[in-house]
Amino acid sequence: MSADYAARYGLSAAEEAWRRKAQAFALEEVAPLSREADRAGRFPRALVPRMAALGLLGTPVDTAHGGGGASALAAAVVAEELGRVDGSVRGFLAVHVGLVTQTVAQFGTDEQRRAWLPRLLSGATIGCFALTEPGAGSDAAAVTTTVRDDGDHVVIDGEKHWITNGGVAGLAIVFGTADPSAGRKGIEAWLVPTSTPGFEAHPMDGHALGHRASDHARLVFRGVRVPRANRLGPARGGFKVAMGGLDHGRLNVAAGAVGIQAACLDACTAFARSRRQFGQRIGDFQQVGALLAQMRVDLEASRLLVHHAARTLDRTRGPATAETSAAKLFATEAALRTATQAVRLHGARGYDDALPLERHYRDAIGLTIYEGTSEIQRVILARDLLGRDDPAADGPREGARGHKDGAR
Ligand SMILES: Cc1cc2nc3c(=O)[nH]c(=O)nc-3n(C[C@H](O)[C@H](O)[C@H](O)COP(=O)(O)OP(=O)(O)OC[C@H]3O[C@@H](n4cnc5c(N)ncnc54)[C@H](O)[C@@H]3O)c2cc1C
Repeated sequence: MSADYAARYGLSAAEEAWRRKAQAFALEEVAPLSREADRAGRFPRALVPRMAALGLLGTPVDTAHGGGGASALAAAVVAEELGRVDGSVRGFLAVHVGLVTQTVAQFGTDEQRRAWLPRLLSGATIGCFALTEPGAGSDAAAVTTTVRDDGDHVVIDGEKHWITNGGVAGLAIVFGTADPSAGRKGIEAWLVPTSTPGFEAHPMDGHALGHRASDHARLVFRGVRVPRANRLGPARGGFKVAMGGLDHGRLNVAAGAVGIQAACLDACTAFARSRRQFGQRIGDFQQVGALLAQMRVDLEASRLLVHHAARTLDRTRGPATAETSAAKLFATEAALRTATQAVRLHGARGYDDALPLERHYRDAIGLTIYEGTSEIQRVILARDLLGRDDPAADGPREGARGHKDGAR
Protein backbone atom coordinates (compact mmCIF):
# COMPACT_ATOMS: atom_id res chain seq x y z
CA MET A 1 0.00 0.00 0.00
CA SER A 2 2.98 2.24 0.69
CA ALA A 3 4.23 2.58 -2.89
CA ASP A 4 1.13 4.34 -4.12
CA TYR A 5 0.43 6.31 -0.96
CA ALA A 6 0.72 9.70 -2.67
CA ALA A 7 -1.66 8.75 -5.45
CA ARG A 8 -4.19 7.09 -3.19
CA TYR A 9 -4.38 9.99 -0.77
CA GLY A 10 -3.70 12.95 -3.04
CA LEU A 11 -0.41 14.04 -1.51
CA SER A 12 1.49 16.78 -3.31
CA ALA A 13 5.01 16.01 -4.53
CA ALA A 14 6.42 17.99 -1.60
CA GLU A 15 4.26 16.10 0.93
CA GLU A 16 5.30 12.77 -0.55
CA ALA A 17 8.96 13.81 -0.39
CA TRP A 18 8.58 14.53 3.35
CA ARG A 19 6.87 11.16 3.84
CA ARG A 20 9.60 9.27 2.03
CA LYS A 21 12.33 11.08 3.92
CA ALA A 22 10.69 10.23 7.26
CA GLN A 23 10.11 6.64 6.14
CA ALA A 24 13.76 6.15 5.19
CA PHE A 25 14.95 7.70 8.45
CA ALA A 26 12.53 5.59 10.52
CA LEU A 27 13.46 2.32 8.82
CA GLU A 28 17.20 2.87 8.47
CA GLU A 29 18.10 4.84 11.58
CA VAL A 30 15.34 4.50 14.19
CA ALA A 31 14.23 0.87 13.80
CA PRO A 32 17.67 -0.61 14.59
CA LEU A 33 17.70 1.24 17.95
CA SER A 34 14.09 0.85 19.03
CA ARG A 35 14.14 -2.42 20.94
CA GLU A 36 17.26 -1.57 22.95
CA ALA A 37 16.03 1.96 23.72
CA ASP A 38 12.72 0.50 24.92
CA ARG A 39 14.50 -2.11 27.06
CA ALA A 40 16.91 0.44 28.51
CA GLY A 41 14.18 3.03 29.02
CA ARG A 42 16.47 5.64 27.50
CA PHE A 43 15.67 8.25 24.88
CA PRO A 44 18.05 7.78 21.91
CA ARG A 45 19.31 11.35 21.99
CA ALA A 46 21.85 10.73 19.23
CA LEU A 47 18.91 10.80 16.82
CA VAL A 48 18.20 14.48 17.53
CA PRO A 49 21.03 15.96 15.40
CA ARG A 50 20.08 13.54 12.61
CA MET A 51 16.45 14.70 12.75
CA ALA A 52 17.67 18.29 12.69
CA ALA A 53 19.88 17.61 9.65
CA LEU A 54 16.89 16.10 7.83
CA GLY A 55 14.72 19.07 8.72
CA LEU A 56 12.39 16.93 10.81
CA LEU A 57 12.62 19.28 13.81
CA GLY A 58 10.86 21.99 11.84
CA THR A 59 8.76 20.27 9.17
CA PRO A 60 5.63 22.48 9.50
CA VAL A 61 7.36 25.63 10.81
CA ASP A 62 7.28 28.61 8.44
CA THR A 63 10.33 29.07 6.26
CA ALA A 64 10.39 32.69 7.47
CA HIS A 65 11.27 31.26 10.88
CA GLY A 66 13.81 28.79 9.51
CA GLY A 67 11.49 25.78 9.28
CA GLY A 68 10.55 23.49 6.42
CA GLY A 69 7.38 25.38 5.55
CA ALA A 70 5.53 22.11 4.99
CA SER A 71 1.79 21.59 5.27
CA ALA A 72 0.09 20.10 8.33
CA LEU A 73 -0.57 17.08 6.10
CA ALA A 74 3.17 16.67 5.47
CA ALA A 75 3.77 16.84 9.23
CA ALA A 76 1.07 14.22 9.74
CA VAL A 77 2.54 11.76 7.26
CA VAL A 78 5.98 12.28 8.85
CA ALA A 79 4.40 11.36 12.21
CA GLU A 80 2.68 8.35 10.64
CA GLU A 81 5.96 6.99 9.29
CA LEU A 82 7.77 7.48 12.60
CA GLY A 83 4.82 6.11 14.56
CA ARG A 84 4.89 3.01 12.40
CA VAL A 85 8.34 2.25 13.77
CA ASP A 86 8.76 3.89 17.17
CA GLY A 87 6.16 5.63 19.37
CA SER A 88 8.78 7.15 21.66
CA VAL A 89 10.69 8.91 18.89
CA ARG A 90 7.40 10.02 17.34
CA GLY A 91 6.33 11.27 20.79
CA PHE A 92 9.53 13.26 21.13
CA LEU A 93 8.74 15.01 17.85
CA ALA A 94 5.09 15.63 18.79
CA VAL A 95 6.24 17.55 21.84
CA HIS A 96 9.40 19.20 20.52
CA VAL A 97 7.89 20.30 17.21
CA GLY A 98 4.10 20.32 17.67
CA LEU A 99 3.82 21.58 21.23
CA VAL A 100 6.96 23.69 21.61
CA THR A 101 8.53 24.92 18.35
CA GLN A 102 5.23 25.57 16.58
CA THR A 103 3.85 27.26 19.70
CA VAL A 104 6.85 29.58 19.96
CA ALA A 105 6.54 30.32 16.22
CA GLN A 106 2.81 31.01 16.56
CA PHE A 107 2.65 32.96 19.80
CA GLY A 108 6.20 34.26 20.32
CA THR A 109 7.38 37.83 19.94
CA ASP A 110 10.03 38.53 17.31
CA GLU A 111 12.61 38.58 20.08
CA GLN A 112 11.43 35.23 21.50
CA ARG A 113 11.45 33.66 18.05
CA ARG A 114 14.95 34.95 17.38
CA ALA A 115 16.15 33.67 20.74
CA TRP A 116 14.65 30.19 20.64
CA LEU A 117 13.67 29.01 17.16
CA PRO A 118 17.19 28.53 15.76
CA ARG A 119 18.12 26.48 18.83
CA LEU A 120 14.95 24.39 18.71
CA LEU A 121 15.23 23.81 14.97
CA SER A 122 18.89 22.74 15.21
CA GLY A 123 18.20 20.49 18.20
CA ALA A 124 20.74 22.44 20.29
CA THR A 125 17.85 22.99 22.69
CA ILE A 126 15.15 20.39 23.31
CA GLY A 127 11.70 21.65 24.31
CA CYS A 128 9.06 20.38 26.72
CA PHE A 129 5.47 21.46 27.37
CA ALA A 130 4.65 21.55 31.07
CA LEU A 131 0.91 21.65 31.62
CA THR A 132 -0.14 18.58 33.65
CA GLU A 133 0.06 18.67 37.45
CA PRO A 134 -0.72 16.02 40.05
CA GLY A 135 -4.03 17.80 40.73
CA ALA A 136 -4.72 19.09 37.21
CA GLY A 137 -4.87 16.55 34.40
CA SER A 138 -7.96 16.64 32.20
CA ASP A 139 -9.03 19.73 34.13
CA ALA A 140 -6.14 21.84 32.88
CA ALA A 141 -7.60 25.10 34.11
CA ALA A 142 -7.15 23.80 37.66
CA VAL A 143 -3.35 24.27 37.53
CA THR A 144 -1.97 25.51 40.85
CA THR A 145 1.53 26.44 39.73
CA THR A 146 1.69 30.14 40.53
CA VAL A 147 3.14 33.08 38.63
CA ARG A 148 3.85 36.07 40.89
CA ASP A 149 5.02 39.53 39.81
CA ASP A 150 8.42 40.58 41.09
CA GLY A 151 9.54 43.86 39.50
CA ASP A 152 10.73 43.21 35.97
CA HIS A 153 10.58 39.47 36.64
CA VAL A 154 7.97 36.92 37.66
CA VAL A 155 8.47 34.11 40.15
CA ILE A 156 7.10 30.63 39.39
CA ASP A 157 6.37 28.04 42.09
CA GLY A 158 4.73 24.65 41.67
CA GLU A 159 5.03 21.13 40.33
CA LYS A 160 4.29 19.34 37.06
CA HIS A 161 4.43 15.65 36.24
CA TRP A 162 4.51 13.29 33.27
CA ILE A 163 6.31 15.92 31.22
CA THR A 164 7.72 14.34 28.04
CA ASN A 165 11.33 15.47 27.33
CA GLY A 166 11.31 17.06 30.80
CA GLY A 167 14.68 15.63 31.84
CA VAL A 168 16.46 16.46 28.57
CA ALA A 169 14.88 19.81 27.75
CA GLY A 170 16.69 23.13 27.73
CA LEU A 171 13.45 25.07 27.36
CA ALA A 172 10.13 24.45 29.11
CA ILE A 173 6.86 26.13 28.24
CA VAL A 174 5.35 26.33 31.72
CA PHE A 175 1.68 27.02 32.37
CA GLY A 176 0.81 28.65 35.67
CA THR A 177 -1.87 30.84 37.13
CA ALA A 178 -1.43 34.54 37.78
CA ASP A 179 -4.86 34.61 39.47
CA PRO A 180 -6.13 31.35 40.98
CA SER A 181 -9.64 32.80 41.38
CA ALA A 182 -9.94 33.41 37.62
CA GLY A 183 -9.83 29.78 36.37
CA ARG A 184 -8.61 29.49 32.80
CA LYS A 185 -8.61 33.28 32.49
CA GLY A 186 -5.79 33.50 35.03
CA ILE A 187 -3.46 31.13 33.17
CA GLU A 188 -0.25 32.29 31.52
CA ALA A 189 2.43 30.53 29.48
CA TRP A 190 6.07 31.23 30.28
CA LEU A 191 9.29 30.38 28.49
CA VAL A 192 11.55 28.95 31.17
CA PRO A 193 15.16 27.95 30.43
CA THR A 194 15.70 24.79 32.46
CA SER A 195 19.04 26.16 33.69
CA THR A 196 17.18 28.80 35.73
CA PRO A 197 17.92 28.46 39.46
CA GLY A 198 15.05 26.72 41.28
CA PHE A 199 14.11 24.55 38.26
CA GLU A 200 14.37 20.83 39.05
CA ALA A 201 13.69 17.82 36.79
CA HIS A 202 13.30 14.37 38.37
CA PRO A 203 12.59 11.08 36.63
CA MET A 204 9.07 9.78 37.22
CA ASP A 205 8.99 7.26 40.07
CA GLY A 206 7.42 4.30 38.28
CA HIS A 207 8.40 2.15 35.28
CA ALA A 208 6.11 3.26 32.44
CA LEU A 209 3.91 0.75 30.60
CA GLY A 210 4.78 2.20 27.20
CA HIS A 211 6.76 4.97 25.55
CA ARG A 212 9.62 3.61 27.58
CA ALA A 213 12.27 5.30 25.46
CA SER A 214 10.65 8.68 26.06
CA ASP A 215 11.97 10.89 28.81
CA HIS A 216 9.14 11.61 31.29
CA ALA A 217 9.83 13.89 34.21
CA ARG A 218 8.43 15.47 37.32
CA LEU A 219 9.31 19.15 37.28
CA VAL A 220 9.53 21.24 40.42
CA PHE A 221 9.73 25.04 40.42
CA ARG A 222 10.99 26.64 43.61
CA GLY A 223 11.05 30.40 43.26
CA VAL A 224 12.02 30.25 39.56
CA ARG A 225 12.60 33.88 38.43
CA VAL A 226 12.23 34.67 34.75
CA PRO A 227 12.13 38.07 33.02
CA ARG A 228 8.71 39.46 32.12
CA ALA A 229 9.83 39.38 28.51
CA ASN A 230 9.55 35.56 28.69
CA ARG A 231 5.75 35.50 28.77
CA LEU A 232 4.49 33.60 25.73
CA GLY A 233 1.26 35.08 24.42
CA PRO A 234 -0.88 37.68 26.14
CA ALA A 235 -1.24 38.29 29.87
CA ARG A 236 -3.85 35.86 31.21
CA GLY A 237 -3.97 34.34 27.72
CA GLY A 238 -2.05 31.13 28.44
CA PHE A 239 -5.02 28.82 28.05
CA LYS A 240 -5.32 29.78 24.41
CA VAL A 241 -1.61 29.11 23.95
CA ALA A 242 -2.03 25.64 25.47
CA MET A 243 -5.00 24.85 23.23
CA GLY A 244 -3.21 26.12 20.12
CA GLY A 245 -0.32 23.76 20.90
CA LEU A 246 -2.66 20.84 21.51
CA ASP A 247 -4.28 21.20 18.07
CA HIS A 248 -0.90 20.42 16.49
CA GLY A 249 0.13 17.90 19.12
CA ARG A 250 -3.11 15.93 18.83
CA LEU A 251 -2.82 15.69 15.08
CA ASN A 252 0.65 14.22 15.54
CA VAL A 253 -0.65 11.70 18.12
CA ALA A 254 -3.49 10.66 15.82
CA ALA A 255 -1.08 10.25 12.92
CA GLY A 256 1.21 8.16 15.13
CA ALA A 257 -1.80 5.95 15.89
CA VAL A 258 -2.27 5.46 12.14
CA GLY A 259 1.37 4.37 11.93
CA ILE A 260 0.88 1.76 14.66
CA GLN A 261 -2.14 0.36 12.83
CA ALA A 262 -0.25 0.22 9.53
CA ALA A 263 2.66 -1.62 11.15
CA CYS A 264 0.33 -4.09 12.84
CA LEU A 265 -1.72 -4.74 9.70
CA ASP A 266 1.42 -5.34 7.61
CA ALA A 267 2.76 -7.81 10.18
CA CYS A 268 -0.60 -9.57 10.57
CA THR A 269 -1.15 -9.88 6.83
CA ALA A 270 2.28 -11.41 6.27
CA PHE A 271 1.83 -13.78 9.22
CA ALA A 272 -1.68 -14.81 8.19
CA ARG A 273 -0.30 -15.73 4.75
CA SER A 274 2.67 -17.72 6.00
CA ARG A 275 1.52 -19.37 9.23
CA ARG A 276 -0.19 -22.72 8.68
CA GLN A 277 -2.32 -24.62 11.20
CA PHE A 278 -4.78 -27.45 10.59
CA GLY A 279 -3.23 -27.81 7.14
CA GLN A 280 -4.02 -24.33 5.84
CA ARG A 281 -3.00 -20.66 6.04
CA ILE A 282 -4.47 -19.17 9.21
CA GLY A 283 -5.62 -16.19 7.12
CA ASP A 284 -8.06 -18.52 5.37
CA PHE A 285 -9.92 -19.17 8.61
CA GLN A 286 -12.91 -16.85 8.42
CA GLN A 287 -12.36 -15.47 11.92
CA VAL A 288 -8.82 -14.41 11.02
CA GLY A 289 -9.83 -12.98 7.66
CA ALA A 290 -12.57 -10.95 9.31
CA LEU A 291 -10.07 -9.60 11.82
CA LEU A 292 -7.76 -8.45 9.02
CA ALA A 293 -10.66 -6.84 7.21
CA GLN A 294 -11.66 -4.91 10.33
CA MET A 295 -8.06 -3.75 10.87
CA ARG A 296 -7.97 -2.52 7.30
CA VAL A 297 -11.20 -0.54 7.67
CA ASP A 298 -10.01 0.97 10.97
CA LEU A 299 -6.70 1.97 9.41
CA GLU A 300 -8.30 3.53 6.37
CA ALA A 301 -10.89 5.44 8.41
CA SER A 302 -8.24 6.67 10.86
CA ARG A 303 -5.95 7.85 8.08
CA LEU A 304 -8.74 9.71 6.32
CA LEU A 305 -9.76 11.45 9.56
CA VAL A 306 -6.14 12.49 10.16
CA HIS A 307 -5.78 13.76 6.61
CA HIS A 308 -9.06 15.64 6.89
CA ALA A 309 -7.97 17.34 10.14
CA ALA A 310 -4.59 18.22 8.59
CA ARG A 311 -6.16 19.63 5.45
CA THR A 312 -8.56 21.65 7.60
CA LEU A 313 -5.62 23.11 9.51
CA ASP A 314 -3.91 23.88 6.20
CA ARG A 315 -6.99 25.45 4.68
CA THR A 316 -8.16 27.56 7.60
CA ARG A 317 -4.74 28.41 9.04
CA GLY A 318 -6.66 28.46 12.30
CA PRO A 319 -7.94 26.05 14.90
CA ALA A 320 -9.32 22.69 13.83
CA THR A 321 -10.22 21.50 17.29
CA ALA A 322 -13.20 19.28 16.47
CA GLU A 323 -11.43 17.72 13.47
CA THR A 324 -8.26 16.93 15.41
CA SER A 325 -10.28 15.62 18.36
CA ALA A 326 -12.29 13.30 16.11
CA ALA A 327 -9.10 12.05 14.46
CA LYS A 328 -7.37 11.51 17.79
CA LEU A 329 -10.34 9.75 19.36
CA PHE A 330 -10.94 7.37 16.49
CA ALA A 331 -7.34 6.67 15.49
CA THR A 332 -5.97 6.06 18.99
CA GLU A 333 -8.83 3.77 20.01
CA ALA A 334 -8.45 1.90 16.71
CA ALA A 335 -4.68 1.61 17.29
CA LEU A 336 -5.32 0.06 20.69
CA ARG A 337 -7.80 -2.45 19.21
CA THR A 338 -5.54 -3.30 16.31
CA ALA A 339 -2.36 -3.65 18.38
CA THR A 340 -4.17 -5.87 20.87
CA GLN A 341 -5.41 -8.12 18.07
CA ALA A 342 -2.00 -8.11 16.40
CA VAL A 343 -0.33 -9.50 19.52
CA ARG A 344 -3.00 -12.18 19.81
CA LEU A 345 -2.97 -13.10 16.14
CA HIS A 346 0.75 -13.86 16.39
CA GLY A 347 0.11 -16.28 19.25
CA ALA A 348 3.05 -16.61 21.60
CA ARG A 349 5.33 -14.85 19.08
CA GLY A 350 3.47 -11.62 19.73
CA TYR A 351 4.06 -11.85 23.44
CA ASP A 352 7.74 -10.93 23.61
CA ASP A 353 9.86 -8.18 22.14
CA ALA A 354 11.40 -10.22 19.35
CA LEU A 355 8.65 -8.52 17.37
CA PRO A 356 7.68 -4.87 17.94
CA LEU A 357 3.98 -5.72 18.35
CA GLU A 358 3.92 -5.84 22.14
CA ARG A 359 5.67 -2.43 22.17
CA HIS A 360 3.02 -1.00 19.84
CA TYR A 361 0.37 -2.49 22.12
CA ARG A 362 1.92 -0.85 25.21
CA ASP A 363 2.43 2.47 23.43
CA ALA A 364 -1.10 2.52 21.99
CA ILE A 365 -2.69 2.76 25.44
CA GLY A 366 -0.67 5.91 26.09
CA LEU A 367 -2.01 7.49 22.91
CA THR A 368 -5.53 7.23 24.32
CA ILE A 369 -4.44 9.11 27.48
CA TYR A 370 -2.08 11.96 26.68
CA GLU A 371 -2.97 15.22 24.99
CA GLY A 372 -6.49 14.61 26.28
CA THR A 373 -8.02 11.21 27.08
CA SER A 374 -10.64 9.63 24.83
CA GLU A 375 -13.32 10.74 27.28
CA ILE A 376 -12.10 14.33 26.98
CA GLN A 377 -12.13 14.16 23.17
CA ARG A 378 -15.79 13.12 23.45
CA VAL A 379 -16.43 16.08 25.78
CA ILE A 380 -14.89 18.41 23.19
CA LEU A 381 -16.90 16.92 20.33
CA ALA A 382 -20.17 16.97 22.26
CA ARG A 383 -19.63 20.61 23.26
CA ASP A 384 -18.86 21.47 19.67
CA LEU A 385 -22.24 20.02 18.70
CA LEU A 386 -24.28 21.35 21.58
CA GLY A 387 -22.82 24.79 22.14
CA ARG A 388 -23.43 26.57 25.41
CA ASP A 389 -26.45 26.03 27.58
CA ASP A 390 -26.50 29.48 29.17
CA PRO A 391 -26.04 32.36 26.71
CA ALA A 392 -25.28 34.73 29.60
CA ALA A 393 -22.36 32.64 30.79
CA ASP A 394 -18.88 32.79 29.31
CA GLY A 395 -18.68 29.03 28.87
CA PRO A 396 -20.24 25.84 30.21
CA ARG A 397 -17.62 25.66 32.91
CA GLU A 398 -14.08 26.71 33.40
CA GLY A 399 -11.75 23.86 33.52
CA ALA A 400 -11.34 20.84 31.37
CA ARG A 401 -8.71 21.15 28.70
CA GLY A 402 -8.61 21.06 24.96
CA HIS A 403 -11.52 23.16 23.95
CA LYS A 404 -12.05 26.87 23.77
CA ASP A 405 -14.23 26.43 26.83
CA GLY A 406 -12.04 24.12 28.70
CA ALA A 407 -11.36 20.40 28.41
CA ARG A 408 -7.92 19.14 27.37
C1 LIG B 1 3.14 8.92 28.08
C2 LIG B 1 2.60 10.23 28.58
C3 LIG B 1 3.18 11.42 28.19
C4 LIG B 1 2.68 12.65 28.67
N1 LIG B 1 3.31 13.83 28.30
C5 LIG B 1 2.85 15.01 28.79
C6 LIG B 1 3.51 16.25 28.48
O1 LIG B 1 4.50 16.27 27.72
N2 LIG B 1 3.03 17.40 29.02
C7 LIG B 1 1.95 17.42 29.85
O2 LIG B 1 1.58 18.51 30.30
N3 LIG B 1 1.30 16.26 30.18
C8 LIG B 1 1.73 15.07 29.69
N4 LIG B 1 1.10 13.89 30.02
C9 LIG B 1 -0.04 13.93 30.92
C10 LIG B 1 -1.37 13.71 30.20
O3 LIG B 1 -1.68 14.77 29.35
C11 LIG B 1 -2.46 13.48 31.27
O4 LIG B 1 -2.15 12.25 31.90
C12 LIG B 1 -3.86 13.46 30.69
O5 LIG B 1 -4.26 14.74 30.26
C13 LIG B 1 -4.90 12.92 31.70
O6 LIG B 1 -4.74 13.54 32.94
P1 LIG B 1 -4.64 12.63 34.28
O7 LIG B 1 -3.61 11.60 34.06
O8 LIG B 1 -4.45 13.55 35.42
O9 LIG B 1 -6.03 11.91 34.38
P2 LIG B 1 -7.40 12.50 35.01
O10 LIG B 1 -7.69 13.84 34.42
O11 LIG B 1 -7.31 12.41 36.48
O12 LIG B 1 -8.46 11.48 34.46
C14 LIG B 1 -8.72 10.22 35.08
C15 LIG B 1 -9.87 9.55 34.34
O13 LIG B 1 -11.05 10.36 34.45
C16 LIG B 1 -11.57 10.64 33.18
N5 LIG B 1 -12.17 11.97 33.14
C17 LIG B 1 -11.65 13.14 33.60
N6 LIG B 1 -12.49 14.17 33.34
C18 LIG B 1 -13.56 13.65 32.70
C19 LIG B 1 -14.75 14.19 32.14
N7 LIG B 1 -15.01 15.50 32.17
N8 LIG B 1 -15.64 13.32 31.57
C20 LIG B 1 -15.38 12.00 31.49
N9 LIG B 1 -14.26 11.43 31.98
C21 LIG B 1 -13.36 12.24 32.57
C22 LIG B 1 -10.37 10.57 32.23
O14 LIG B 1 -10.76 10.34 30.89
C23 LIG B 1 -9.58 9.41 32.84
O15 LIG B 1 -10.10 8.19 32.35
C24 LIG B 1 1.58 12.66 29.55
C25 LIG B 1 0.99 11.44 29.95
C26 LIG B 1 1.49 10.24 29.48
C27 LIG B 1 0.86 8.95 29.91
